[in-house]
Amino acid sequence: MQGYLIRGLPVIKEGDDVASLVQSLFEFQDGDVLCLASTIVAKSEGRFRDLESYEPGGRAVEIAKHIGKDPRFVQAVLDESVEVLLDRPFLLVVTRFGHIGVNAGIDQSNVGDERILLLPENPCRSAERLRASLGRDCAVIITDTCGRPFRTGVAGIAVGWAGIAALRDWRGECDMHGKVLEITLEAIVDEIAAAANLLMGEAGAGTPAVVFRGLKYPGSGGNVFMAEEMDVIRPRLKS
Ligand code: GDP
Ligand code: MN
Ligand code: MN
Repeated sequence: MQGYLIRGLPVIKEGDDVASLVQSLFEFQDGDVLCLASTIVAKSEGRFRDLESYEPGGRAVEIAKHIGKDPRFVQAVLDESVEVLLDRPFLLVVTRFGHIGVNAGIDQSNVGDERILLLPENPCRSAERLRASLGRDCAVIITDTCGRPFRTGVAGIAVGWAGIAALRDWRGECDMHGKVLEITLEAIVDEIAAAANLLMGEAGAGTPAVVFRGLKYPGSGGNVFMAEEMDVIRPRLKS
């Protein structure tokens, strides 16, 4: 397996064709996995917003007091969310597309001036579109850097994917001693996203694209966004 960090991408603007830009710097082969920081996909999709454009409602003002954020920023988070799971000491929400994250993944870094950057509206759909324009049988994973419950430190996770299964199902395979595995679903898109994120860095390196070659992966199936009825932690956050 090889991992390639793509260097030389410009600062992405609304309307930029990210797939073409990456293709001008890297020659893809079938089976490659292209990982893109959600930041640049969001930029290309024009997901910038002016804080000025938000009129904070009463709930945003209340939450803002607890978390020490601009009420307009809190309103932006609420607008991107279908449910609030925690409103202090930080704002943990379920996004419209099913991802659970702090501040709905809205970024203020690597954006510039007073603007904020929302996540892509539907990152799996973005991944599918990018995959189609690569013209090769590749997989695309859109990553974001996130905190993890129970663990210190951020890591990359997948917020969107296409051409690859989210989960690898090991059920029915045998361990080294012949015992059949019963419940092992492996979140391969998150594992790949974490490795990509490690190579991308978090600051000003300007390297939002990573390609993995030689990974064997199933082509479709599963979802890393856990169904609400399967989640035993989520109801307890609300109690
Ligand atoms: P996130 O993890 O998706 O929120 O993105 P980050 O802000 O952590 O950025 C990930 C990587 O992409 C870092 O290496 C950034 O320097 C880089 N990056 C962010 N925006 C751009 C951009 O517009 N152009 C380029 N070339 N790199 C960018
Ligand atoms: Mn981010
Ligand atoms: Mn990051």
